[in-house]
Amino acid sequence: MTIEAMACELCERDGGGLIWRGGDCRVIRVDEPGYPGYCRVIWNAHVREMTDLAAPERARFMHVVFTLEAALRELLRPEKINLASLGNVTPHLHWHVIPRFRDDPHFPNPIWGAPMRQPDPQAHAPGDLAAALSERLSRL
Ligand SMILES: [Zn+2]
Repeated sequence: MTIEAMACELCERDGGGLIWRGGDCRVIRVDEPGYPGYCRVIWNAHVREMTDLAAPERARFMHVVFTLEAALRELLRPEKINLASLGNVTPHLHWHVIPRFRDDPHFPNPIWGAPMRQPDPQAHAPGDLAAALSERLSRL
């Protein structure tokens, strides 16, 4: 393990509520008010950039991202899905998969921008979304 990985929160912990874990990556749910279905797909090993992965690993990672995106579209019918890979604070490969709604706190801005409205905890509130996502991801 590198020095960087020893201090990395995504190496030490799941990084959120675990929805699904595979041999190479995992899906966690982000607890962010106003954003039902906000998930991250996290590569299990400490890797900085997509181009540090071999081509088949990259394809596998994106397959998981797109499977999750499809499940969230089916379950929540969002206005849009935002995909983002930043990692400036935590340089451990992960993709943000964020269902967006016209009445979410930042729409149409990025969720990291200035808020446009207060979150509505009832908006788009799914039943047991974690269980529904877990069931769909079990097909991976
Ligand atoms: Zn790490």
